[in-house]
Amino acid sequence: MNFYFEAVNVLDKLDAKKGSIKGVLASIPEKNRKRTAALVIETLKYKPVLGEVIDAAQLLKQEKKITSRNLALVLVHDLLLARGIQAGDGPIKQAVLRHKTRLTSEFTRAKIKRGAKSNDELAQTGDARAASIPRYVRVNRTCWTTKEALKAFQAQGYELGDPLSSPKSFKQDDHIPDLLAFHPSVRFIEDPLYLSGKIILQDKASCFPAHILAPPARNDAVVIDATAAPGNKTSHLCAIMQNKGKLYAFERDRKRFSTLKTMLSKAHCTNVEAVNSDFLTISPNDANFGRATHILLDPSCSGSGIVNRMDHLLAAEQEEDDDSDRLNKLAAFQLKMVRHAMTFPSVRRIVYSTCSVHAIENEHVVRQALKTEEATTGGFRLARRAQVLPIWPRRGFPEELDDPADADSLVRCSPGEDATNGFFVSLFIRDETDVSGPETKKRKQPVNAHDNSEQRAAKRKKKPSKAMDP
Ligand code: SAM
Repeated sequence: MNFYFEAVNVLDKLDAKKGSIKGVLASIPEKNRKRTAALVIETLKYKPVLGEVIDAAQLLKQEKKITSRNLALVLVHDLLLARGIQAGDGPIKQAVLRHKTRLTSEFTRAKIKRGAKSNDELAQTGDARAASIPRYVRVNRTCWTTKEALKAFQAQGYELGDPLSSPKSFKQDDHIPDLLAFHPSVRFIEDPLYLSGKIILQDKASCFPAHILAPPARNDAVVIDATAAPGNKTSHLCAIMQNKGKLYAFERDRKRFSTLKTMLSKAHCTNVEAVNSDFLTISPNDANFGRATHILLDPSCSGSGIVNRMDHLLAAEQEEDDDSDRLNKLAAFQLKMVRHAMTFPSVRRIVYSTCSVHAIENEHVVRQALKTEEATTGGFRLARRAQVLPIWPRRGFPEELDDPADADSLVRCSPGEDATNGFFVSLFIRDETDVSGPETKKRKQPVNAHDNSEQRAAKRKKKPSKAMDP
């Protein structure tokens, strides 16, 4: 019965919105994870019909031994849709078996009502948008080059072509150097290239922040990743910096900090110092951190842009997940983080990003940040489009900003429309004359080679329309 209680515990946590399906399942001890995960996912797939059957058979009313709806769901799932309840003959199993005939007939009734010819047709399907998002693979430039990676994948039998057309086709991304796109069904979890850290599985949109921040690859560079775990963007920053200079990666959560450290070691990051601290408690005048010129701020958000086949199974019940109270609290925290980043004396570039689609966490945070004392006295403004992935067509929502023209400075990704998860990126910059420091005085050019190539590309291309709102 313990196996069922473990699955119930996961379902209870999901009901209490204590994390995504993937996140909650990851917290199960590894030896039981596979079996429990399968039961949880299958139960969620059939949850609406199982719930209807349990109610019609009045199982919970008649059997006090079945102490919760989630316990009834997992047991009835196995009774009706698997090989029976996998437990010894105890009182809980007996309580369900007493109702087997009624449950079976209510199940048949529910099937007829839905016109389902097989049990499979009763299952809730995943999020169809996930099928339009390729499996993205970032080549870890700290280990090898993209050219070498292309050759290695070709040697494995992949051919250059449209990644959505066949599981054997892959291509180089148009916007992010070092990013490759494969068919969504391709799995790399067991691939030696993944296990050795030579490739990193990272959604395209989540590669935008480090690319846009564009930290320098120099021995005297000082960069901060303020909210780092699990560390995909940290290792991306590290790759852009070619493991040079110093990259401070803050993470306040102890467990996530340990994941971050594992991830950074696997990605061969040698210029990163991971710090298990709350970024808000870090003094901008600290002798080390205070020298940072670039800050990446990718704080906790509602995650409403994440398209996930599994989490879609929760969507029907959690449509109001993003209630305004929660979003207001998140937005207040996000703004606090931006304001704190702006107090660092040497900082010239701050990327603020979220995987949310809500304007309240995106344009509204930017709009308010620009009006704060930290921004006005510090001389921060939004970078122009030319520095913020100019060839990316989908920009911010003009109607959500004080100055609609600012929308052009912002990057948005729309799930299902852009072959990425939903995402938002902004770049605050400080006029170079406003900050002192050796680099500031010397450099009058764009921050790195990416900016140059993008600017040239933007000029070559016909200028896209201002904001491509869906
Ligand atoms: N950038 C990460 C990546 O790409 O892998 C994802 C960051 S996740 C959206 C936000 C992270 O920030 C969480 O791990 C959270 O624990 C951490 N966090 C939130 N508030 C923080 C704070 N004040 N200081 C440091 N870390 C914080």
